[in-house]
Formats: sequence, C-alpha cells, structure tokens
Amino acid sequence: MKRIAIIGGGISGLSAAFALEKRRQAGASLEYALFESSPRLGGVLVTDRVDDCLLEAGPDSFLTEKPWASDLSREVGLGDQLIGSNDADRITYILANGKLVEIPDGLMFMVPTKITPTMLSPLFSARTKLQIAREWFHPPRKADADESVAAFVERHYGPEMVDRLADPLLSGVYGGEAAQLSVRAVLPRFAEMEATYGSLGRAMLAARKKMGHASKVPTRPLFTSLKDGMQELVDAVVSRLPASALNTNTPVQRVQQENGGWVISAGYSSDEFDAVIMAIPAHAAAELLSTTNESLASELRGIQYTSSVTVNLGYDRSVRASLPPGFGFLVSRSEGRRMLAATFVHNKFPHRAPNDRALLRCFIGGARNEQVLGAPDEEIIGIVGKELGQIIKLTADPLFTRVYRWRNAMAQYGVGHLDRLQRIDGLLQSFPGLALAGNGYRGIGVPDCVRSGSDAANKALLAVGLPEDASQRVAS
Ligand SMILES: Cc1cc2nc3c(=O)[nH]c(=O)nc-3n(C[C@H](O)[C@H](O)[C@H](O)COP(=O)(O)OP(=O)(O)OC[C@H]3O[C@@H](n4cnc5c(N)ncnc54)[C@H](O)[C@@H]3O)c2cc1C
Repeated sequence: MKRIAIIGGGISGLSAAFALEKRRQAGASLEYALFESSPRLGGVLVTDRVDDCLLEAGPDSFLTEKPWASDLSREVGLGDQLIGSNDADRITYILANGKLVEIPDGLMFMVPTKITPTMLSPLFSARTKLQIAREWFHPPRKADADESVAAFVERHYGPEMVDRLADPLLSGVYGGEAAQLSVRAVLPRFAEMEATYGSLGRAMLAARKKMGHASKVPTRPLFTSLKDGMQELVDAVVSRLPASALNTNTPVQRVQQENGGWVISAGYSSDEFDAVIMAIPAHAAAELLSTTNESLASELRGIQYTSSVTVNLGYDRSVRASLPPGFGFLVSRSEGRRMLAATFVHNKFPHRAPNDRALLRCFIGGARNEQVLGAPDEEIIGIVGKELGQIIKLTADPLFTRVYRWRNAMAQYGVGHLDRLQRIDGLLQSFPGLALAGNGYRGIGVPDCVRSGSDAANKALLAVGLPEDASQRVAS
C-alpha cells in the first residue's frame, strides 16, 4: 500500500485529493491523508448567506476559458449548477480623474482591437491615443530578459495606459502592481505577440483573422460560477472523499525526508508517507522545507504574496435603483484611493441578491495597502463607505456588512518568476516524491489551482509507482 500526504485543504489540495481518490476507487493500492490547519476545508473559497444575499468572501467566479474548474465541477456532479456571468450587462468602469469611465469596447486587456471606441473614449488623453495609433508600427522585439508589465505596456502605449488599465486590472486579479509583476509570467501571450509581430494591435487582429470562423460561434460568458456559490464546489469535492482521509485543525509543523520516504509531523503525532503534495502558499512550503533543502526553501520564500480584504455590503432597493449599470469599477492608482475595486454583484450574478437588494463587494489591501488587514472591521467599513460616497455618491447606510481578511494569500509573480520556477523544478529533481501545488507557481486563478492539484497528484502517483490512468473516472 502506497501512502501519499497532502498538506493544505484549499481548492489545490482538494483537487489533488480528488485525483488520488479516483485512482484509489479504480483499484490502486493507495492511501492518502490531507492535513489542513484551519477548522474548515476550501481555503479562500468561502460562501455566506445574509439577508437572502449570497456573499463570496474569496473568489466569486473563474475565467470560463480555463476549463479545469468547470471540468472538476462536472466530475463532482455540479454540471447543472454551473452558471455564467450576466455579460449582457458587462460594463466595467475605471475611476480616472474622480469619474467613472467605461472601459471602451474592444479592449483586450490593454490592447485596443476596435479603433473608434478607443479614440472616442475619455479614458485616454490625446497623447495616449497618438501612441495607440503609433503602436501599429512597433517593431518585433526578441524577449531576451523578463521585464515588468509596467515597462512592457509603457513601451507600447505609454505611462497613462499603465495607470488607467494595466495597473487597475492587475490589482484586481493579483492585488499586485504592474511595476512589480513579470510580463512573461502574467501576460505570456503578449510577450510572444511582441516577439512575432511587434505591434500588439496587429497581433490581435491577425489572431482574430485566423479564428475567423470562431466569430460565428456564440460567445461564452467571460466568468463561470456556481449557483449556490464557490463553496458548492468545495462541498461537492469533500463529499466524494472519505472523511477518514481529511484532517482539519491539523497544522503540519514538520516535514522530513527519511529512509526514502517522508515523515509528516502534525500536532503530537508523526506519520510516514511515500510521497507528499504541498498545496499551501509558497512561503508556508518554504517554512516546512527549510530543514530538507535550504536552497529550495529560499527559492520558495522568494515568491512574494500580498494580502487582501473583501467587504460585502447589502443595500435596499432605492440604492439599487441609483447605482450605475455594469459589473463594477476598478480604481487607478493615481486616484490615491484605498479601495482597489468594487463589484456590483446584483448585476454580475443577478440571482445572488433579491430584486429589492443591491449587493456590493469591495476590495481593499493588496501591495498598496497591506496594513489595512490589521484594522478593525468598523474602520475598514468606514474607509469603504467614505470612498463609495465619493466615487458613486452612495451615502445610504448598508443593511449589512461583512469583512473577510486574507493574509498573504495572493501570490505575486515578480520579474524573473519563470526563471525561479525553472530553478525550483531543477531542485525538485532530487526529490521525486515531493510535489508542489497552489497559486504560487503557474497561475493564481481557481482553474489553475485545480489543475496544479491534479498535476501534483499525478507526479506523486508516478513517484510511488502508480502512474496516472486518465481513463479512470469516478461516476458523478
Ligand atoms: C479575495 C480573493 C479573491 C479572489 N478572486 C478570485 C476570482 O474571482 N477568481 C479566481 O479564479 N481566483 C480568485 N482568487 C484566487 C484563488 O481563489 C486562489 O488563488 C486559490 O483559491 C488558492 O487556492 P489554494 O488551495 O492554492 O490556496 P488556499 O486557498 O490559500 O489554501 C491553502 C490552505 O493551506 C492551509 N495551510 C497552510 N499552511 C498549512 C500547514 N502548515 N498545514 C496544514 N494546512 C496548511 C491553509 O489553512 C489553507 O486552507 C481570489 C483570491 C482571493 C484571496
């Protein structure tokens, strides 16, 4: 009987456990144990219900174009629970010069694919519009070394594009700053486009032409979620796993390589395993691996994380009627605000709030504002309330508020991240029975984490001599 340990019970660890469970049910001589330090499973996936509203404390959805979270949902019997965002109302605003300005139609991240809406948009100055036109003639450039997203975007479209789009969009996803994040890790397609075409605008157009027929296929919603919230995915995966394999309230304190296997110490007990999957943030993995290999631990420690706070606020029907249409807004840094973004949940996923309620989800924290995590709830609600008053003239008292803090939960793929991953892969060669999963490595979104968990499970299975068998599936 081979034994595999999984450390961390967020979606990455649960996805790894589910992959192992499928192999176990298919008859593999295998046993596994998952260790989670907190009292509950799911990590940052937490859904609450207040006043008939569905509140997401962490992720509220995932990108539809990345299939792994939807695939997992179907495998655990949630196919009919998958829902799309209400893209008919998909308007996103940027707060610029104190005003909410719509992101112009046709913008792919920061690459304009429709000239008229971009040229007419008040989001950009005449100087940036001129730069957008000139970008068409940008010469191809071999990407020798990594650089920051800010440097890359500025080379193509100038500094205003960084402030008005790249930075707010990235702080929405990573809680990070364009000046710190790696273009190769965060926007690999754009780096490739530059190498081949020079101009990102021309590259996008060429890609569209190539896909010509695809324009006739109905477009899918940008975001996918689950009817009853992201927690539904956690609950469904957990229901497929044997309770005896799941150890909550069990922080792993020590991991040691011994006699070709691994000894995991949690609480007062230690147990031996043939392989171990670390599905925890890279900084937590670094702590546990420092006695095994300091070089590996040091590389893992080098992956930075930021913290974030989400604030859900519920309002009555009069507020709902007064709010702008659309999914919400992002705040550009030059505005000097503490809020990073706000989602109008009742528009993005209408069934998550009754018709007589408005539900807002605001983000604060990130690389710009780490210290807010230590502030009491009332202070955080006060900051958000004041800024909502200034930005969207929302002065009514909320019917309810909920504050959720996520300390060091969002990985930042800094410049040189891909080189660091290569060094980590090199160091891991000496430890075939050790696999890493989670948002610190090859994608921060829920689908990437799901994939990282199943990839890590396959690596661990291979290491213990039970190679992956993709044909085996647990019936849903
Ligand atoms: C506020 C917020 C909003 C987000 N929004 C989106 C979104 O809309 N869409 C999207 O796709 N992604 C989003 N993300 C990103 C995505 O949700 C995360 O990257 C992903 O869920 C991380 O999953 P994970 O399992 O790797 O890590 P986590 O969820 O952090 O889980 C790791 C687990 O390991 C446990 N642990 C740590 N150390 C130990 C130890 N020593 N022993 C035992 N257990 C340990 C922790 O308690 C935790 O439960 C968001 C993230 C946050 C924080």
